[in-house]
Amino acid sequence: MTYKKALQHPVFKIISQSADALSLDAYVIGGFVRDYLLERGNAKDIDIVAIGSGIELAQHVADNLPSKPKVQVFKTYGTAMLKHEDIEIEFVGARKESYTEDSRNPVVENGTLKDDQNRRDFTINALAIALNKSNFGQLLDPFNGVSDLDNGIIRTPLNPDITYSDDPLRMMRAIRFATQLNFTIEDDSSKAISKNKERINIITKERVVTELNKILESDKPSIGFIHLEKTGLLDYILPELTALKGVEDIEGQRHKDNFYHTLEVVDNICKTTDNLWLRWAALLHDIGKAPTKRFYKRIGWTFHGHEFVGSKMVYKLFKRLKMPLNDKMKFVQKMVFMSSRPIVLASKVTDSAVRRLVFDAGDNVDDLMILCEADITTKNPKKFKKYHNNFKIVRDKIVEVEERDHVRNFQPPVTGEEIMKTFNLKPSKEIGIIKEAIKEAILDGEIPNEYDAAFELMLKKGKALGLKTS
Ligand code: ATP
Repeated sequence: MTYKKALQHPVFKIISQSADALSLDAYVIGGFVRDYLLERGNAKDIDIVAIGSGIELAQHVADNLPSKPKVQVFKTYGTAMLKHEDIEIEFVGARKESYTEDSRNPVVENGTLKDDQNRRDFTINALAIALNKSNFGQLLDPFNGVSDLDNGIIRTPLNPDITYSDDPLRMMRAIRFATQLNFTIEDDSSKAISKNKERINIITKERVVTELNKILESDKPSIGFIHLEKTGLLDYILPELTALKGVEDIEGQRHKDNFYHTLEVVDNICKTTDNLWLRWAALLHDIGKAPTKRFYKRIGWTFHGHEFVGSKMVYKLFKRLKMPLNDKMKFVQKMVFMSSRPIVLASKVTDSAVRRLVFDAGDNVDDLMILCEADITTKNPKKFKKYHNNFKIVRDKIVEVEERDHVRNFQPPVTGEEIMKTFNLKPSKEIGIIKEAIKEAILDGEIPNEYDAAFELMLKKGKALGLKTS
């Protein structure tokens, strides 16, 4: 069977001619071939392996492309990259790798195609299609990668124990691919991951987070987090989540398993949003529950203040994982901190409670509602319907209150300057007191969010404070 169809893009012809001109063998390998066979759409990353110098091949290809792209050479790695249209093409000479204990950077020497396929992480990533004229379109599949693709299996070409130990990032990649493709991780691989879990510590945090993000960006991230938990990797990466595991029962009072609940929430939210940070918020929304868990004889289990504690933990977690400490982190913190607000409110939807919610959440109120709806994981269909209906009422009320009161990005209807002018004041604490009183009155619905009403209240408050108008 020939796979010429995979090579329809004109760039492959040019690579083929260049390879023949330089008398070296060239193959397209890895993700491009895998995704072609999986019909996962047009890959924008093409990896080419040359039996010989990948850098020379890249240069030759660039010279023969009409756009004459610049070749970026990475001498230390013996690789070269060029951009053609919207495609990134990476060239590497076939290599043989051997590893040392303390690093995931191998000692490298030139090798054959087979050597190069041996060093690949998974059978489904070791597939190559030949590019030279004599064998254009021929598939080279030494480890039955096609069969693993058909059966949905993640398997390493060589001994999994050695493969994962050599480069522990592959453990994360295995779980990530299993999640993205909904594949099974072959048993020996799973065992080898468990065995080598501690070696994840030699991987940089940034790389681990890249994989975590890809898991979270999948349709059903729970697949990945269950693997991470079962293999023991999660303890090393996100111990805040494993701490949520388990159900405790005291005198017949039980609480739910907050780990599995969290995973359900994450899967739910992925049906509604592509926003990676909202997905992170779903993953972390209950992390404060482990440190705040208490049991009281009369009340049962409580997690008082878990939202506040959880939002503080978000910062520490982001810092430890070297994730951005910018507005993204603040957004996740805010979502975690506010995650129970709409729930508390849903049992009794009053105008003033909704106004306060919109005021506090600002532009994030819609994301907060998405999070809270995803948080409904009850298996009781009656309750499920009731909770969703309650949130529907909250949503309608948000729209109504918004149209009338405009508190989403609240601007005080009377400014501090106007207060100073009216009472002939220098900057002082009275101004803050009056502003706060106006804001509270608006949020409580005592006065409308309008200038005249606010001005009148200002006069009243000023008088009560013993201020004189100028
Ligand atoms: P994706 O683009 O979804 O991440 P990919 O397979 O193209 O998938 P890359 O990271 O671009 O991922 O890697 C390209 C190829 O290089 C892989 O298909 C695989 O053959 C090989 N590879 C990447 N990382 C490793 C690794 N850590 N160990 C062994 N082989 C790897």
